[in-house]
Amino acid sequence: LPTSDEVISLPKYVRINTLCANKDDIITELNQQFHLTTSNKLEEINQFVYDNDIPDLLKFHPSVDLHHNPLYLSGKLIIQDKASCFPAYILNPPAGSQVIDCCAAPGNKTTHLAAIMNNNGTIFAFDKDKKRVKILQTMVNKAKATCVRAECKDFLSINPMDNLYRKVEYVLVDPSCSGSGMINRQQQFTDEVKSCTDKRLEQLSKFQISIVKHALSFPNVRRVVYSTCSIHEQENELVVEEVYSKFSDKFDVVEVMPGWKFRGRDSYKNGRKCLRMSYEESQTNGFFVACFERIKQSDNVEM
Ligand code: SAM
Repeated sequence: LPTSDEVISLPKYVRINTLCANKDDIITELNQQFHLTTSNKLEEINQFVYDNDIPDLLKFHPSVDLHHNPLYLSGKLIIQDKASCFPAYILNPPAGSQVIDCCAAPGNKTTHLAAIMNNNGTIFAFDKDKKRVKILQTMVNKAKATCVRAECKDFLSINPMDNLYRKVEYVLVDPSCSGSGMINRQQQFTDEVKSCTDKRLEQLSKFQISIVKHALSFPNVRRVVYSTCSIHEQENELVVEEVYSKFSDKFDVVEVMPGWKFRGRDSYKNGRKCLRMSYEESQTNGFFVACFERIKQSDNVEM
């Protein structure tokens, strides 16, 4: 890992918000200030490229700041690190789906899901923190994500048998984690990482296991994507193994993005099916994604 006084420069990523922006118009506008290039290396500060892995994601030079750009201020561009775009892309709910985003605030992944669904269907977006739900709602409004129903609720208190969620087939689980993969603005690893004790990791791991298990308990759920911005196995591969050991009669851990080189730890049964990202390997924040899929629909599915 880089030391705290080493300078870390991550490329800047923005997602074109296709809910309220036309891709060609965005590129034309950006080309007035920057220059779209096809080379993946951003040699000049004013160059940008389409990302190779995530549709509608643009990559800029690390020193670019788009926070004051009118395209960002109007919601047409969403500033989102590449790593944080993988979960919604992998969950990939078709238009018309019923989706739960169980730990949704501030809403980067929620609005990404809405864009993938083209605002067609419903996203139940929960977060238990009142202040963060306000930010979520602001972000949802700004992004014109009209299919989102944001609510301040503890996901663990949601009854999977409630008729309201009967048709939910896709769930995104992006719970609180140690944040040990995040490289902060001062380009140092966060203080939280340094002070993340074994006890804290154990508590987080327990909570993460309970929340993924709860997601898998919805009667018609087909696919559940679990993600963290942690580098710790205890919050990543270990959570997946523990959940899988209890749900393997109904769910498989499926290989996500086989073309992506950086995989989970292969000392775990399902490790290589999962995806990892890191500053060293992919020049992103540290991240982990796993995907559970139902083996067969239960006999009493009533849609
Ligand atoms: N998915 C978000 C995004 O992409 O913008 C980031 C989510 S953040 C990593 C984790 C969130 O989980 C926090 O906002 C926290 O308040 C919320 N949270 C923690 N426990 C929860 C629970 N039991 N039910 C609902 N939300 C919870």
